[in-house]
Amino acid sequence: MSKHWHPETRAIREQIPRSGQQEHSAPLYLTSSFVFDDTEQARALFADEISGNLYSRFTNPNPDEFVRKLCLLEGAESGVACATGMAAITLSLLGVLKAGDHLIAARDLFGSTHQILTRLLPRFGIEHSYVPIDDVAAYERAIRPNTRMILVETPSNPGLKLADLESLGKLAQAHDLLLNVDNTFATPWLQNPLALGAHLVTHSATKFIDGQGRVMGGAVLGQGPVMDEIRWFARQTGPSLSPFNAWVLSKSLETLHVRMDRHCDNALHIAQALEDLPGLSFVRHPERPSHPQHELARRQMRRGGAMVCFELAGGLEAGRRFLDRLQLCSLSANLGDSRTIATHPASTTHAKLSEEDRQAVGITPGLIRLSVGLEHPDDILEDLQQALEQTG
Ligand SMILES: *Cc1c(COP(=O)(O)O)cnc(C)c1O
Repeated sequence: MSKHWHPETRAIREQIPRSGQQEHSAPLYLTSSFVFDDTEQARALFADEISGNLYSRFTNPNPDEFVRKLCLLEGAESGVACATGMAAITLSLLGVLKAGDHLIAARDLFGSTHQILTRLLPRFGIEHSYVPIDDVAAYERAIRPNTRMILVETPSNPGLKLADLESLGKLAQAHDLLLNVDNTFATPWLQNPLALGAHLVTHSATKFIDGQGRVMGGAVLGQGPVMDEIRWFARQTGPSLSPFNAWVLSKSLETLHVRMDRHCDNALHIAQALEDLPGLSFVRHPERPSHPQHELARRQMRRGGAMVCFELAGGLEAGRRFLDRLQLCSLSANLGDSRTIATHPASTTHAKLSEEDRQAVGITPGLIRLSVGLEHPDDILEDLQQALEQTG
């Protein structure tokens, strides 16, 4: 494969060796184990003297192909494919941290990640401190002698706030910490945290990487010896991605750049049009100059992404009325689909948080999160407008 090719070309052309049937598209390897030529080969495989497939909890051609494509797009040396995004995040924490360690996390986190930090990690003696996502000095102040990692999600869910990856990368470098970035919202097409100083990147492939709401998946990517620890942990504990899901996701990666560009065009168009409508107290999209961190978005992201959030001036009841009147957009808690999805975080995804915690991450009662799909933007907008008019 030619090194000067663009990452998307290389990701499309990266493929497991043909099986002998001259198939053009990679076949699906639904097999739990692999046979050895003889006892000597089996011995060498188990001793790690040669590489090859042994058992699908360790390696399988389909997850391997998926993760190689993802590494090409992220500029990562290696990666581990996982069954879900949460398996990947858990692996990036438990695969590295040990009792007595401390991590610093931006407060704006995916709900289950917040649960892992507050309820699971303390059982193993791993502490955390929360800091405001956009305050680099606060991360520095939170560093203790036993701090090992900084964990961020950017853009954040659902407020679309950004963490300054280059500054955090430098801070991590200076204090010998690992910067771990959940890159789900941006995808590797819009943002490459490793190039900005991160050491680990996680993805929920369930979202834009699949992009069509079909399968679950995830991955941890990175460089160097930390990935060896993570790979060892994954092999023993078994959060492996199924060959079928990997086969679907590997094909999805071949169209990621095309889909994301259209998602971004649609989201930008909708955010801009919403800014002119009455009844909204704010509209947020990283590519709009109205976003408080627009300049940072321009520096670290190729485009603003597919997510838009806005606030209905009428609060909680207005939010619920608005969603109940939508006709085209789906009412769902998922995101990253070809179909536009509207979510009301205060009554669904973030309902378990206290009012105070919601306030701290900017989840106001009337906040609506839109995952803008691939329908014609005028049709999406028309639906939003008619629902807004009826919300009053
Ligand atoms: C969905 C999501 C996850 C979890 O991924 P699953 O595939 O649902 O396990 C983690 N982080 C972010 C930002 C997400 O949107």
